[in-house]
Amino acid sequence: MDERLEAALKTWGISYLFPYQELVIQGLLDREAVRQAVILPTGAGKSLCFQLPAALFENPTLVVYPLRSLTADQKRRSDQAGLTTVILQGGQTKPQRQQVWDKLAAGKVKLILSNPETLAQPKVLRELQKVALSHAVIDEAHCVELWGNSFRPGYRELGSVLKKLEVPRITAFTATATSRIVEDWAQSLFGGEAFSLIRATADRPNLDFVHEPYLSLRRSLPRAVLREARPALVFCRSREQVRRWAHHLHRETALDVRFYHAGLTREEKTGIEQWFFQSQDGVLLATNAYGMGVDKSGIRTVFHLEEAPGPEDYLQEAGRAGRDGNPARAILFVRAKAKKAVCTCRRATLLSAFGEEAPACSGCDVCRGQDSVPPPDLSPVLRRLEKAVHRLDREEVRSFLAGRIPPALWESGLPQVPGWGLWKDEDDLTVRELWKALEEGEWLKFHERGLWKGLLKPLPV
Ligand SMILES: [Zn+2]
Repeated sequence: MDERLEAALKTWGISYLFPYQELVIQGLLDREAVRQAVILPTGAGKSLCFQLPAALFENPTLVVYPLRSLTADQKRRSDQAGLTTVILQGGQTKPQRQQVWDKLAAGKVKLILSNPETLAQPKVLRELQKVALSHAVIDEAHCVELWGNSFRPGYRELGSVLKKLEVPRITAFTATATSRIVEDWAQSLFGGEAFSLIRATADRPNLDFVHEPYLSLRRSLPRAVLREARPALVFCRSREQVRRWAHHLHRETALDVRFYHAGLTREEKTGIEQWFFQSQDGVLLATNAYGMGVDKSGIRTVFHLEEAPGPEDYLQEAGRAGRDGNPARAILFVRAKAKKAVCTCRRATLLSAFGEEAPACSGCDVCRGQDSVPPPDLSPVLRRLEKAVHRLDREEVRSFLAGRIPPALWESGLPQVPGWGLWKDEDDLTVRELWKALEEGEWLKFHERGLWKGLLKPLPV
């Protein structure tokens, strides 16, 4: 290890660097010009990879973030590390900007935190061209590919901005990226120049991956949230869902439940972020707008009500759990089907999307042999129903589960069959959902014709 690096570690009180941290840092210190793409799982000590060199470089390091909350978070860390840091972002007044330029001119600044849109402004670019930069860092660099073509065109411009600034060292960081994304950076960020790829495994061994089959989310979600360890984060795909499920969960569980999405005001968002950051037992419902927001380390469970758009999104979001390294769980709700599908290890399936060979699985429902179990209380009830006093029709099965037996069947002995009234505490909406799921998932089938027309068929389970 380099003498400078060793000395710096001593001053910082750091006794150990992960191998990839050392690779990234040494790469920056050894070479005058370098392009690096670094894929590190969240919580792997990314900041250190550029803070430490920033402290050693004479000229400032520019760090580009997609979100204000991340910039604020980094400012806090840099202040802790004793690095003089300035922020360049939208909404700053002229005097505030002037202060930044003065500090830069005085040559005391170690870190400049900004975003693609601000950097692309001609005035900002002109001022920064006066400053020699040592290193540029693009954090959450998957945004280049993800957002560059749509609502953040500033990300597409980033490559040419860096070129104009003549930055000798560029490092792109992300938690997860497929090879296609990395290829894309090579073009847009590094202008086709050669770069080194440093990839730590995307696996998070302390995460347990589970698919949870449900008949009714209205019923399963509150139960799961009460059952699993908290604080918990529930990802929904739309703002409307976030509000609706937060309301339902709050009513059903009496837990401290709040919600977060991009439509909230800045004050509201900050308030929720602070609340969740402190919370030991809270439940936050969020769209992916929360995804990169806050560095909360003690989240124990992350739920997904439906699948994320892609494996990167899923790992990124699920990876919000257990960032303290302690056991945590990622639960994806899936519609329960009577027909058992063949499943492979959840971890292997996820990681194969990142070109990783199947790792030793440190926990998933498939490897434990718990996949595709029917919703817990259902299967024995259905089997008993089949053996019930006489063959039931649709309405009778429904009445049985809801705990309502029409007078004509009072003598049938049905209320004595275990499972009678299984759904009697559920509201009408939930019972409707449950029933629909039973029929659609083919848990229940009824004869279409013949002598038994309309009556329950033998069950598949
Ligand atoms: Zn597994």
